[in-house]
Amino acid sequence: MKYVLSVASIALLGITPSCSDLSHKSSDNSSYPVKFSVGNVDPRFGVSPEKLRVLTDKAVSVWEEPVGLHLFEPDDPAPLKINLVFDDRQQKKFDEKHLRSKLDAGGKSYDVLMQEYDSEVLLEKKLESDYASEQSSLQQKLDAHNARVAYWNARGGAPSVEFSSLSIAEREIDNLRESLERHRQYLNKTNDNVKSLSDAINNLVTDYNLQVSNYNGRFVGSREFEKGAFNGREINIYEFDDDADLELTLIHELGHALGFDHVDDPQSIMYYKLEKQDRKNIHLSAQDLNLVKRKFSELTKRF
Ligand SMILES: [Zn+2]
Repeated sequence: MKYVLSVASIALLGITPSCSDLSHKSSDNSSYPVKFSVGNVDPRFGVSPEKLRVLTDKAVSVWEEPVGLHLFEPDDPAPLKINLVFDDRQQKKFDEKHLRSKLDAGGKSYDVLMQEYDSEVLLEKKLESDYASEQSSLQQKLDAHNARVAYWNARGGAPSVEFSSLSIAEREIDNLRESLERHRQYLNKTNDNVKSLSDAINNLVTDYNLQVSNYNGRFVGSREFEKGAFNGREINIYEFDDDADLELTLIHELGHALGFDHVDDPQSIMYYKLEKQDRKNIHLSAQDLNLVKRKFSELTKRF
């Protein structure tokens, strides 16, 4: 018996924008170096104040190193506080990560089951074809044997040489029958395996598709919000993926603290979305560098 696998189509995941519009308010009358300290760090982010300080120091050096200027200075208390503010934005990020990892695991189980299913279906096909040819060969032997028996019966019985040859042929036929039966059982077992694998896959796919639709409904689509903000007195960070994303957000907001506005190059730190910057090698773009050079050439008579 054949079982038809009905794998439901897996919905395509849309892209969740990792970027956000960063609202800000530049300060043009700061004195330099800008004094900063770590302020309130909500523990729900899983980032300690010490770690935030380390990432802020790295962010500071991204601005300072290329120009060799002392632009920021840690101080406590300092006029500029850096806070991690937890609300539904980061909560949603956590929920998304959790569901995404469940989806990835579901996708992996699906791949493993499909591989198993494919190889079991191949085996099933081979067994079916072997069984059919074995069955037809048995039938041919049986027909020939029956014809010989009928031939000799019509003549009142077989001579003893012929009789023993017929008995040997009969045993061979019995052996073939037994072998065919074993193959039938093996084929049935394989049919059952294919059936249970297809059931398991269908269940998994149904469950997966539900989760995908849940994921798509909750996380995919337009999602622009403030990831971080500089309001002149403090830098508040509301949402980030990982350390690199947090560092990138810090560099961006520190840029506002230096008095910089947004630029139009999507790979720049000071672009309004944090999306296309190189997170593995965070650095100032030519446009970012120009911002520093323009602002500080007056102050330092350099560049
Ligand atoms: Zn901004």
